[in-house]
Amino acid sequence: MKYHDSMARSAEHLRAALPLMTKQRAALHPASYAVWYEFVSGSNPKLNQALQIHTAGGNTLDEAQTWALYREHVCDLDPALGGKIADGFSQVLDSMATSAAQAGQESARFDNSLSAWVEQLLSNPPAQTQADVLQELLSGTREIRGALSELQQRLDSSQGEIHSLREEVQRARGEALLDALTGLANRRAFDQHLQQCTSNPPGDSALAPCLVLGDIDFFKQVNDSYGHAFGDRVLRAVAQTLKGVAAQADKGQETTIAARVGGEEFAMLLPSGNLQQAQAMAETMRSCVAASRIRRGDTEQDIRRVTISLGVTQLRAGECAETFFKRADRALYASKHTGRNCVTVLAAA
Ligand code: GH3
Ligand code: MG
Ligand code: MG
Repeated sequence: MKYHDSMARSAEHLRAALPLMTKQRAALHPASYAVWYEFVSGSNPKLNQALQIHTAGGNTLDEAQTWALYREHVCDLDPALGGKIADGFSQVLDSMATSAAQAGQESARFDNSLSAWVEQLLSNPPAQTQADVLQELLSGTREIRGALSELQQRLDSSQGEIHSLREEVQRARGEALLDALTGLANRRAFDQHLQQCTSNPPGDSALAPCLVLGDIDFFKQVNDSYGHAFGDRVLRAVAQTLKGVAAQADKGQETTIAARVGGEEFAMLLPSGNLQQAQAMAETMRSCVAASRIRRGDTEQDIRRVTISLGVTQLRAGECAETFFKRADRALYASKHTGRNCVTVLAAA
């Protein structure tokens, strides 16, 4: 994210952002400031939407939520680029270490030859000045060897650091693709998978990718009646159900992508699908959610039943990701109009 605000404008944003930032439970670090600065500047509509949801009903952001928003909406270090940078560092270090090792070996060889010559000359005494010059050459070479081996050691320890940096980038790359609340793939990861499987569909159109979209029914009322924190528990429970349904259908293959694609919206993407199987998964999902009872931790009291509406479709030949997704969304909204807690299939043909 690049900032182009003037001094006066950025000072205005600072004045507006500070009181909002200090109201949260998260610490007052630069990531937190960046989130609230972008919020008050209005330059990042998706972030503002997400913040409005998180802070609805007077809720405040904790540390994890702040970092998740920062990673998803503010920090624009492309995870793939981060990986490339770390890999690049590693390659440069590897080649420096190889050069240093070669230089060390050559210097050692030269040192041995010199020593031999000096021995020869000393046993057959040359003029004093020549002997002095040779001794000096010898000690100079030893110094170079010492310096090279020190460099080698430093390169070894830098390589260790690069190795842990690479691991950290890898972990951050993984986290950047996960939804912090539910642990499912997030929208960014889902979009990447959708692009991948629509740009390279299987030849047999009956095996084309299938998409199931789900949206919790009247979720706003759940939040309004029981509070946002309870709403979050419902989201986590629905996500668990989604994971279970996907795992059962995959039978250990892990081919289905289960994602949270919006506030209370979920997706299952079957890269090489079969429409009947996708419909069956959607139906299992619907019935599991409707059958589940999520208790309120403090009162043991059951809440009103939570249900989910779903839409299912299959990729058409030559279709792009966007129209594929839109058709699944239309199927989902048909379910909402039919009365919710149901599954609608829009076939590809
Ligand atoms: P419909 O059946 O038509 O889908 O009704 P709805 O109430 O589910 O839909 P609406 O789009 O009106 O409301 C969605 C609600 O989801 C509003 C928002 O507060 C809530 N929401 C979105 N993200 C989160 C979240 O991360 N946590 C919680 N607790 N609520 C969220
Ligand atoms: Mg919705
Ligand atoms: Mg909803």
